[in-house]
Amino acid sequence: MNNIYNLNLTDLEEYFINIGEKKFKGSQVFDWLYRKKVRSFDEMTNLKKEIIDKLKEDFTIKTVSITKVERDIDVNKYLFKLKDDEKVEAVLMNHPYGNSLCISTQVGCNMGCKFCESGRLKKVRNLETHEMIEQILLVEEECGKRISHIVIMGIGEPFDNYDNLIKFIEIVNNPKGLELGSRHITVSTCGVVPKIIEFTSLPYQVNLAISLHAPNNTIRDMIMPINKAYPLDVLFPVLKDYIKKTNRRLTFEYIMLDGVNDTEECAKELCELVRGMNCYINLIPYNETNNISFKRTKKEKISQFYDILKKNSICVTVRREYGSNISAACGQLRSKKED
Ligand code: SAH
Repeated sequence: MNNIYNLNLTDLEEYFINIGEKKFKGSQVFDWLYRKKVRSFDEMTNLKKEIIDKLKEDFTIKTVSITKVERDIDVNKYLFKLKDDEKVEAVLMNHPYGNSLCISTQVGCNMGCKFCESGRLKKVRNLETHEMIEQILLVEEECGKRISHIVIMGIGEPFDNYDNLIKFIEIVNNPKGLELGSRHITVSTCGVVPKIIEFTSLPYQVNLAISLHAPNNTIRDMIMPINKAYPLDVLFPVLKDYIKKTNRRLTFEYIMLDGVNDTEECAKELCELVRGMNCYINLIPYNETNNISFKRTKKEKISQFYDILKKNSICVTVRREYGSNISAACGQLRSKKED
Protein backbone atom coordinates (compact mmCIF):
# COMPACT_ATOMS: atom_id res chain seq x y z
CA MET A 1 0.00 0.00 0.00
CA ASN A 2 1.25 3.50 -0.78
CA ASN A 3 2.00 5.92 2.04
CA ILE A 4 0.20 9.26 2.08
CA TYR A 5 3.47 11.20 2.63
CA ASN A 6 4.75 9.92 -0.73
CA LEU A 7 2.27 12.23 -2.49
CA ASN A 8 2.93 15.85 -3.26
CA LEU A 9 0.08 18.33 -3.61
CA THR A 10 -0.47 17.60 -7.31
CA ASP A 11 -0.54 13.84 -6.65
CA LEU A 12 -3.14 14.30 -3.91
CA GLU A 13 -5.31 16.48 -6.16
CA GLU A 14 -5.09 13.87 -8.92
CA TYR A 15 -5.98 11.14 -6.46
CA PHE A 16 -9.20 12.92 -5.50
CA ILE A 17 -10.12 13.61 -9.12
CA ASN A 18 -9.55 9.92 -9.90
CA ILE A 19 -11.89 8.78 -7.17
CA GLY A 20 -14.57 11.20 -8.38
CA GLU A 21 -14.10 13.83 -5.70
CA LYS A 22 -13.32 17.54 -5.92
CA LYS A 23 -9.72 18.53 -6.56
CA PHE A 24 -9.59 20.90 -3.57
CA LYS A 25 -9.86 17.93 -1.20
CA GLY A 26 -6.21 17.44 -2.14
CA SER A 27 -5.24 20.77 -0.57
CA GLN A 28 -7.37 20.00 2.47
CA VAL A 29 -5.53 16.76 3.12
CA PHE A 30 -2.17 18.39 2.37
CA ASP A 31 -3.02 21.06 4.91
CA TRP A 32 -3.89 18.47 7.58
CA LEU A 33 -0.66 16.60 6.93
CA TYR A 34 1.84 19.44 6.75
CA ARG A 35 0.34 22.52 8.42
CA LYS A 36 -1.78 21.00 11.14
CA LYS A 37 0.51 17.97 11.22
CA VAL A 38 -2.10 15.45 12.32
CA ARG A 39 -0.85 11.87 12.31
CA SER A 40 -4.08 9.96 11.63
CA PHE A 41 -6.85 10.18 9.03
CA ASP A 42 -9.51 10.32 11.77
CA GLU A 43 -8.25 13.73 12.85
CA MET A 44 -9.04 15.25 9.42
CA THR A 45 -12.37 16.47 10.72
CA ASN A 46 -13.50 18.52 7.72
CA LEU A 47 -13.64 15.37 5.55
CA LYS A 48 -16.69 13.13 5.24
CA LYS A 49 -16.53 9.74 6.90
CA GLU A 50 -16.61 7.97 3.48
CA ILE A 51 -13.56 9.90 2.37
CA ILE A 52 -11.68 9.13 5.57
CA ASP A 53 -12.52 5.44 5.12
CA LYS A 54 -11.36 5.53 1.52
CA LEU A 55 -8.06 7.16 2.55
CA LYS A 56 -7.56 4.46 5.18
CA GLU A 57 -8.20 1.82 2.55
CA ASP A 58 -5.74 3.30 0.08
CA PHE A 59 -2.89 4.65 2.21
CA THR A 60 -0.74 3.97 5.24
CA ILE A 61 0.21 7.00 7.31
CA LYS A 62 2.54 6.14 10.23
CA THR A 63 5.15 3.56 9.33
CA VAL A 64 8.36 4.80 10.94
CA SER A 65 9.05 4.90 14.68
CA ILE A 66 11.82 6.21 16.91
CA THR A 67 13.52 3.37 18.78
CA LYS A 68 16.33 5.24 20.47
CA VAL A 69 17.34 8.83 21.29
CA GLU A 70 20.85 9.75 22.42
CA ARG A 71 21.48 13.23 23.78
CA ASP A 72 24.59 15.39 23.92
CA ILE A 73 25.02 19.16 24.30
CA ASP A 74 22.92 20.76 21.55
CA VAL A 75 22.59 17.44 19.68
CA ASN A 76 20.16 14.55 19.66
CA LYS A 77 20.68 11.42 17.61
CA TYR A 78 17.61 9.45 16.62
CA LEU A 79 17.45 5.84 15.56
CA PHE A 80 14.40 5.01 13.46
CA LYS A 81 12.84 1.68 12.70
CA LEU A 82 11.32 1.36 9.23
CA LYS A 83 8.41 -0.82 8.14
CA ASP A 84 10.72 -3.70 7.16
CA ASP A 85 12.69 -3.42 10.42
CA GLU A 86 15.63 -1.71 8.72
CA LYS A 87 17.16 1.15 10.71
CA VAL A 88 18.42 4.61 9.83
CA GLU A 89 19.56 7.60 11.87
CA ALA A 90 19.03 11.35 11.90
CA VAL A 91 20.78 14.03 13.92
CA LEU A 92 19.17 17.15 15.37
CA MET A 93 21.44 20.13 15.98
CA ASN A 94 20.27 23.14 17.97
CA HIS A 95 21.89 26.22 16.48
CA PRO A 96 21.40 29.81 17.64
CA TYR A 97 19.58 30.39 14.33
CA GLY A 98 17.25 27.39 14.54
CA ASN A 99 16.97 23.64 14.67
CA SER A 100 18.68 21.74 11.93
CA LEU A 101 17.98 18.10 11.14
CA CYS A 102 20.45 15.92 9.26
CA ILE A 103 18.42 13.20 7.57
CA SER A 104 19.23 9.88 5.90
CA THR A 105 18.19 8.96 2.37
CA GLN A 106 19.15 5.29 2.07
CA VAL A 107 19.63 2.20 4.21
CA GLY A 108 23.38 1.74 3.75
CA CYS A 109 25.25 3.34 0.86
CA ASN A 110 26.98 2.05 -2.27
CA MET A 111 29.47 4.86 -2.75
CA GLY A 112 32.16 3.08 -0.72
CA CYS A 113 34.13 6.13 0.44
CA LYS A 114 37.05 4.63 2.33
CA PHE A 115 36.81 6.92 5.36
CA CYS A 116 33.06 6.69 5.97
CA GLU A 117 31.33 4.45 8.49
CA SER A 118 27.94 4.82 6.80
CA GLY A 119 29.26 3.23 3.64
CA ARG A 120 30.57 0.07 5.26
CA LEU A 121 27.14 -1.47 4.96
CA LYS A 122 26.22 -1.82 1.29
CA LYS A 123 23.00 -0.20 0.20
CA VAL A 124 20.02 -2.29 1.25
CA ARG A 125 17.43 0.00 -0.29
CA ASN A 126 16.44 3.57 -1.01
CA LEU A 127 14.26 5.39 1.47
CA GLU A 128 10.88 6.35 0.09
CA THR A 129 9.87 10.00 0.24
CA HIS A 130 7.56 9.34 3.18
CA GLU A 131 10.43 7.86 5.19
CA MET A 132 12.38 11.09 4.80
CA ILE A 133 9.31 13.17 5.69
CA GLU A 134 8.58 11.01 8.74
CA GLN A 135 12.09 11.63 10.10
CA ILE A 136 11.18 15.31 10.34
CA LEU A 137 7.69 14.82 11.75
CA LEU A 138 8.80 12.31 14.37
CA VAL A 139 11.71 14.45 15.55
CA GLU A 140 9.47 17.52 15.81
CA GLU A 141 7.02 15.50 17.90
CA GLU A 142 9.77 14.14 20.12
CA CYS A 143 11.62 17.39 20.77
CA GLY A 144 8.61 19.71 20.71
CA LYS A 145 10.36 22.19 18.43
CA ARG A 146 9.98 23.13 14.78
CA ILE A 147 12.72 21.98 12.44
CA SER A 148 13.84 25.09 10.56
CA HIS A 149 16.73 23.66 8.54
CA ILE A 150 17.29 20.35 6.77
CA VAL A 151 20.66 18.98 5.76
CA ILE A 152 20.52 15.91 3.59
CA MET A 153 23.82 14.54 4.82
CA GLY A 154 22.89 11.46 6.82
CA ILE A 155 23.25 7.88 5.67
CA GLY A 156 23.14 7.35 1.92
CA GLU A 157 23.90 9.17 -1.31
CA PRO A 158 20.90 11.42 -2.00
CA PHE A 159 21.61 11.58 -5.74
CA ASP A 160 21.50 7.78 -5.88
CA ASN A 161 17.86 8.11 -4.78
CA TYR A 162 17.07 11.10 -6.93
CA ASP A 163 13.34 10.87 -7.66
CA ASN A 164 12.33 10.22 -4.05
CA LEU A 165 14.67 13.00 -2.95
CA ILE A 166 13.18 15.56 -5.32
CA LYS A 167 9.64 14.74 -4.25
CA PHE A 168 10.78 15.14 -0.64
CA ILE A 169 12.28 18.55 -1.38
CA GLU A 170 9.11 19.59 -3.19
CA ILE A 171 6.92 18.76 -0.18
CA VAL A 172 9.28 20.24 2.39
CA ASN A 173 9.74 23.42 0.39
CA ASN A 174 6.08 23.92 -0.59
CA PRO A 175 4.63 27.01 1.19
CA LYS A 176 1.47 24.92 1.70
CA GLY A 177 3.60 22.01 2.91
CA LEU A 178 6.30 22.06 5.57
CA GLU A 179 7.27 25.50 4.28
CA LEU A 180 11.00 25.36 4.75
CA GLY A 181 12.74 28.00 2.65
CA SER A 182 14.96 26.50 -0.04
CA ARG A 183 17.93 28.29 1.45
CA HIS A 184 17.28 26.33 4.63
CA ILE A 185 17.71 23.04 2.77
CA THR A 186 21.13 21.65 1.84
CA VAL A 187 21.75 18.52 -0.17
CA SER A 188 25.17 16.94 -0.23
CA THR A 189 26.56 14.60 -2.88
CA CYS A 190 29.84 12.81 -3.41
CA GLY A 191 29.62 13.87 -7.06
CA VAL A 192 27.05 11.91 -9.09
CA VAL A 193 27.52 14.02 -12.22
CA PRO A 194 24.38 13.15 -14.27
CA LYS A 195 22.19 14.03 -11.29
CA ILE A 196 24.04 17.29 -10.62
CA ILE A 197 23.22 18.21 -14.21
CA GLU A 198 19.53 17.40 -13.66
CA PHE A 199 19.54 19.25 -10.35
CA THR A 200 20.96 22.36 -12.04
CA SER A 201 17.82 22.76 -14.12
CA LEU A 202 15.34 22.46 -11.24
CA PRO A 203 13.52 25.56 -10.04
CA TYR A 204 14.43 25.08 -6.35
CA GLN A 205 16.95 27.39 -4.72
CA VAL A 206 18.25 24.56 -2.53
CA ASN A 207 21.90 24.67 -1.40
CA LEU A 208 24.26 22.16 -2.93
CA ALA A 209 27.31 20.75 -1.16
CA ILE A 210 29.94 18.58 -2.78
CA SER A 211 32.00 16.10 -0.79
CA LEU A 212 35.34 16.89 -2.40
CA HIS A 213 37.94 15.70 0.11
CA ALA A 214 40.89 15.81 -2.30
CA PRO A 215 42.54 18.39 -4.55
CA ASN A 216 43.52 15.97 -7.33
CA ASN A 217 42.46 12.72 -8.98
CA THR A 218 45.30 10.65 -7.52
CA ILE A 219 44.19 11.21 -3.93
CA ARG A 220 40.48 11.28 -4.70
CA ASP A 221 40.70 7.98 -6.59
CA MET A 222 42.23 6.42 -3.50
CA ILE A 223 39.55 7.49 -1.05
CA MET A 224 36.39 7.92 -3.15
CA PRO A 225 35.50 5.27 -5.76
CA ILE A 226 32.98 7.66 -7.39
CA ASN A 227 35.99 9.61 -8.69
CA LYS A 228 36.81 6.76 -11.08
CA ALA A 229 33.41 7.19 -12.72
CA TYR A 230 33.39 11.01 -12.58
CA PRO A 231 36.91 12.38 -12.14
CA LEU A 232 37.56 16.02 -11.27
CA ASP A 233 37.95 17.08 -14.90
CA VAL A 234 34.41 15.80 -15.54
CA LEU A 235 32.94 17.02 -12.26
CA PHE A 236 34.30 20.57 -12.27
CA PRO A 237 32.89 21.82 -15.60
CA VAL A 238 29.48 20.60 -14.40
CA LEU A 239 29.88 22.44 -11.09
CA LYS A 240 30.94 25.63 -12.86
CA ASP A 241 27.88 25.33 -15.05
CA TYR A 242 25.72 24.84 -11.92
CA ILE A 243 27.09 28.06 -10.40
CA LYS A 244 26.64 29.98 -13.64
CA LYS A 245 23.07 28.82 -14.29
CA THR A 246 21.76 29.03 -10.73
CA ASN A 247 23.83 31.97 -9.57
CA ARG A 248 24.24 30.17 -6.28
CA ARG A 249 27.27 29.61 -4.10
CA LEU A 250 28.51 26.05 -3.92
CA THR A 251 29.85 24.43 -0.75
CA PHE A 252 32.80 22.06 -0.83
CA GLU A 253 33.24 19.70 2.09
CA TYR A 254 36.83 18.72 2.73
CA ILE A 255 37.58 16.30 5.55
CA MET A 256 41.08 16.57 6.93
CA LEU A 257 42.76 13.15 6.89
CA ASP A 258 46.15 13.00 8.53
CA GLY A 259 48.92 12.51 5.98
CA VAL A 260 46.47 11.92 3.14
CA ASN A 261 45.04 15.23 1.91
CA ASP A 262 46.30 17.79 4.45
CA THR A 263 49.72 18.88 3.21
CA GLU A 264 50.76 22.37 2.15
CA GLU A 265 50.86 21.19 -1.49
CA CYS A 266 47.30 19.89 -1.16
CA ALA A 267 46.16 23.28 0.15
CA LYS A 268 47.80 25.07 -2.78
CA GLU A 269 46.39 22.61 -5.29
CA LEU A 270 42.96 23.06 -3.77
CA CYS A 271 43.22 26.84 -4.21
CA GLU A 272 44.03 26.37 -7.89
CA LEU A 273 41.20 23.89 -8.35
CA VAL A 274 38.48 26.24 -7.05
CA ARG A 275 39.98 29.55 -8.06
CA GLY A 276 37.41 31.98 -9.44
CA MET A 277 34.44 29.83 -8.46
CA ASN A 278 31.62 31.20 -6.32
CA CYS A 279 32.11 28.70 -3.54
CA TYR A 280 33.25 28.16 -0.04
CA ILE A 281 35.21 25.38 1.53
CA ASN A 282 34.17 23.73 4.73
CA LEU A 283 37.11 21.99 6.37
CA ILE A 284 35.86 19.09 8.47
CA PRO A 285 38.03 17.61 11.22
CA TYR A 286 37.86 13.86 10.51
CA ASN A 287 35.86 11.85 13.02
CA GLU A 288 37.79 8.71 13.73
CA THR A 289 35.90 5.46 14.04
CA ASN A 290 37.01 2.09 15.41
CA ASN A 291 36.63 0.26 12.15
CA ILE A 292 38.62 2.56 9.86
CA SER A 293 42.30 3.41 10.16
CA PHE A 294 42.33 7.03 8.91
CA LYS A 295 43.42 9.57 11.52
CA ARG A 296 42.34 13.14 12.12
CA THR A 297 44.72 15.94 11.14
CA LYS A 298 46.10 17.81 14.17
CA LYS A 299 44.56 21.16 15.05
CA GLU A 300 47.65 23.21 14.17
CA LYS A 301 47.88 21.60 10.77
CA ILE A 302 44.22 22.32 10.07
CA SER A 303 44.96 25.97 10.94
CA GLN A 304 47.93 26.05 8.56
CA PHE A 305 45.78 24.59 5.78
CA TYR A 306 43.07 27.13 6.58
CA ASP A 307 45.59 29.99 6.47
CA ILE A 308 46.86 29.02 3.03
CA LEU A 309 43.32 29.05 1.66
CA LYS A 310 42.58 32.40 3.34
CA LYS A 311 45.76 33.96 1.95
CA ASN A 312 44.60 32.88 -1.49
CA SER A 313 41.26 34.66 -0.91
CA ILE A 314 39.28 31.42 -0.81
CA CYS A 315 36.22 31.51 1.49
CA VAL A 316 36.85 28.85 4.09
CA THR A 317 35.48 27.74 7.45
CA VAL A 318 36.31 24.95 9.84
CA ARG A 319 33.19 23.00 10.71
CA ARG A 320 32.08 23.20 14.29
CA GLU A 321 31.93 19.75 15.76
CA TYR A 322 28.71 18.29 16.94
CA GLY A 323 27.83 15.06 18.58
CA SER A 324 31.03 13.05 18.42
CA ASN A 325 30.38 11.81 21.98
CA ILE A 326 27.32 9.96 20.78
CA SER A 327 28.74 8.96 17.37
CA ALA A 328 26.38 11.40 15.76
CA ALA A 329 29.04 13.27 13.84
CA CYS A 330 29.62 13.23 10.09
CA GLY A 331 30.52 9.81 8.82
CA GLN A 332 29.68 8.07 12.07
CA LEU A 333 26.06 7.27 11.29
CA ARG A 334 25.29 3.78 10.32
CA SER A 335 22.35 1.53 9.89
CA LYS A 336 22.29 -1.84 11.49
CA LYS A 337 19.34 -4.15 11.93
CA GLU A 338 20.64 -5.54 15.18
CA ASP A 339 20.95 -2.14 16.93
N1 SAH B 1 26.67 10.80 0.32
C1 SAH B 1 26.54 12.21 0.46
C2 SAH B 1 25.80 12.59 1.72
C3 SAH B 1 26.51 12.21 3.01
S1 SAH B 1 27.12 13.69 3.68
C4 SAH B 1 27.90 12.85 0.37
O1 SAH B 1 28.88 12.14 0.27
O2 SAH B 1 27.98 14.06 0.32
C5 SAH B 1 28.17 13.17 4.92
C6 SAH B 1 29.46 13.96 4.88
O3 SAH B 1 30.32 13.51 5.92
C7 SAH B 1 30.20 13.74 3.59
O4 SAH B 1 30.84 14.91 3.20
C8 SAH B 1 31.19 12.69 3.99
O5 SAH B 1 32.26 12.63 3.11
C9 SAH B 1 31.58 13.17 5.36
N2 SAH B 1 32.20 12.14 6.19
C10 SAH B 1 32.16 10.81 6.03
N3 SAH B 1 32.85 10.19 6.99
C11 SAH B 1 33.33 11.16 7.79
C12 SAH B 1 34.08 11.15 8.99
N4 SAH B 1 34.46 10.01 9.56
N5 SAH B 1 34.40 12.33 9.55
C13 SAH B 1 33.97 13.49 9.00
N6 SAH B 1 33.24 13.55 7.89
C14 SAH B 1 32.93 12.41 7.29
